[in-house]
Amino acid sequence: MAYKFIDNYREQGARKRLVEVLQKKGITDEQVLKAIGKVPRHFFFDETFWNQAYKDIAFPIGEGQTISQPYTVAYQTELLHIRKGDKVLEIGTGCGYQTCILLELGARVCTIERQEKLYERTIQVLPYMGYKPKFFLGDGSVGIPGDAPYDKIIVTAGAPTVPDLLLKQLSIGGILVIPVGDEKSQKMVTVLKTAEHDYERHVLDTFRFVPLVGDRAW
Ligand code: SAM
Repeated sequence: MAYKFIDNYREQGARKRLVEVLQKKGITDEQVLKAIGKVPRHFFFDETFWNQAYKDIAFPIGEGQTISQPYTVAYQTELLHIRKGDKVLEIGTGCGYQTCILLELGARVCTIERQEKLYERTIQVLPYMGYKPKFFLGDGSVGIPGDAPYDKIIVTAGAPTVPDLLLKQLSIGGILVIPVGDEKSQKMVTVLKTAEHDYERHVLDTFRFVPLVGDRAW
C-alpha cells in the first residue's frame, strides 16, 4: 500500500491553529497541546479531505467508525495525567490518532481494535509514521489481562456501564477514562483506583461516541 505522507507549511499552520482552538475551548495541559501540535492528523485522511483534518470535528474513517474530534482526544488525554513510561491500555484503536498522542506523551501503549479492516490498516500506518504501540485485535471490553496491570486505561467508544474487568486490570493509583451512557449520549467518567477494591469516581461532561461493542459492552 502506498501512503502519501507530506507535512507541509499549510498543514503545519492548520495544526497550530487547531491547538489555539483547543486552548480556547479549555484544554490547558501544555504536554497534551504539544502532542496535538505534533501529530499530523491529516495522515489519517484521504488526501481529498486534508482540508477537513484540522477542523475540530470527528470524521468518518470507514467501517461505520470515526476519527475522534480533536477536542475529545485532548479532553480524554488530559484526564489520564500521563507520566513518561506509564503503561496505557487504549480500547478502540480506530485509525490510531489517539494512540499517537499517547505515545508522544511518553506512554507505553497497548491498543486494541475489534474491527479487522481498521486494525490491518493501523498496524501498517502507525509504524510507517514512526509510532510503535503494541497492537491487538479483539474485544477490548474485557481488557487485555495478559498485559495487565495498566497505569491508565482509556476507552474511546461509548459503554453502557464501566466494565468490571477493566477496573480489575488497573494498578493501584491507576486511572480509567470512559464515556458511559446510552447510544445517543454519554458522560465522561473517570475512575481512580485508590486501593484493591476502592474506587473514586467522577462524572464529567457529555459527549457522543460510537458504541463500545462486546462482551462487557453493547
Ligand atoms: N481512538 C480513535 C481515534 O484516535 O480517533 C477513535 C476510535 S472510534 C471513536 C472507536 C473505535 O472503537 C472504533 O474503531 C470501534 O471499532 C472500536 N471499538 C468498539 N468496540 C470495541 C471493543 N469492544 N474492542 C475494541 N475496539 C472497539
